Amino acid sequence: MISNSMQEMLKGSSVIRAMFEEGQKMEKIYGKENVFDFSLGNPNVKAPKKVNDTIKQIVDDIDSVELHGYMLNSGFVDVREAIAKSINKRFGTNFDFNNIVMTVGAAGGLNVLFKTILNKNDEVIVFAPYFGEYRNYIKNYDGVVVEIKQNPPTFMPNIDEFKKKITKNTKAVIINNPNNPTGVVYPESVVKDIAKVLNEKQKEFNKDIYLISDEPYRELVYENEEVPYLTKYYNNSIVGYSYSKSLSLPGERIGYLVVPNEVSDFENMVQALSIATRILGFVNAPSLQQKLIMQCLDEKVDIDYYKKNRDLLYSSLTKLGFECVEPKGAFYLFMKAPNGDDKEFSRLAKEEHILLVPGSSFSGEGYVRLAYCVSYETIQRSIPAFEKLAKKMGII
Ligand code: PLP
Repeated sequence: MISNSMQEMLKGSSVIRAMFEEGQKMEKIYGKENVFDFSLGNPNVKAPKKVNDTIKQIVDDIDSVELHGYMLNSGFVDVREAIAKSINKRFGTNFDFNNIVMTVGAAGGLNVLFKTILNKNDEVIVFAPYFGEYRNYIKNYDGVVVEIKQNPPTFMPNIDEFKKKITKNTKAVIINNPNNPTGVVYPESVVKDIAKVLNEKQKEFNKDIYLISDEPYRELVYENEEVPYLTKYYNNSIVGYSYSKSLSLPGERIGYLVVPNEVSDFENMVQALSIATRILGFVNAPSLQQKLIMQCLDEKVDIDYYKKNRDLLYSSLTKLGFECVEPKGAFYLFMKAPNGDDKEFSRLAKEEHILLVPGSSFSGEGYVRLAYCVSYETIQRSIPAFEKLAKKMGII
């Protein structure tokens, strides 16, 4: 018999996964070209050529005992040093390998971090709408999710509500920039506001409150949008990065955490993160992928591909009368359900073979998320279906 908590998980299992399976069924019935699946955030742009070439070269060049062996739980020192140097060059920081812990993607990094910092009933603040998996990661370590309500139409954090919801039990705050599911990018002014509130509240409650920046989409920004580097604004910041989207490697499970020296209890924090990596059963981030990214630190996927998709989808949908948040980063578009009911609207979209994710999966009721990491042709072909949907909703 499986555990009670997993029985609960089975009941509430991910809407997005269910939709993925539904999409595959629909493709079999109606043909791949007649189904418009905007449900899954799985990159469809190839990893850069250098990534594949480097994997081959590493396998040929590095002694296989070293390459495939265990290493420190926090990762190879040379890889961490190279990452630290690259961050310093880009953001004017001053890190070395001690500040970097290699992780099994952003998801692995967040779990290692929550294991390290959360006591039972510690509160973690999230700004709605947010990546729904945060709920599971926080619950894994008996933490409590505290939501700040969504703030349309800008979807910037509501700072007044944020101030009110910080209590003596608040242990951490997560921001996700660029944002899944809204596609917005929080500018420096917002990060400064958050940092100011947190500095005041740390004093008021005489405790540490960690600001976690979850940034797998950092490189996916359009029109040279600046994504502020959090450690420059607040001492108790920890950054979680991943190569799942920036190098299109989600299946390879590689990322890292950045822990600045200024984080309180720094020595214990980095040692504890390393132990958490071990005892959660990750043991270490994949060795081949660590060596790979060390040589691909300046590589990026073809961001123009996503930009072209964004431009076509955003302009087509707004022309049809749909209200959309203009995406500035990531590969998601957040659109208002014209009838105000995101689940019913998603059902009506499915009748036109369009698969969208109801915003309520992200605590973003009344909106739907479209992942435009699909082919340009899929978007082109989907426009007549959206037109039918717009007519059905009575907006044209
Ligand atoms: N955080 C956000 C906001 C995401 O959208 C995702 C994946 O879609 C993750 C974390 C997990 O990413 P990874 O594949 O690096 O574990």
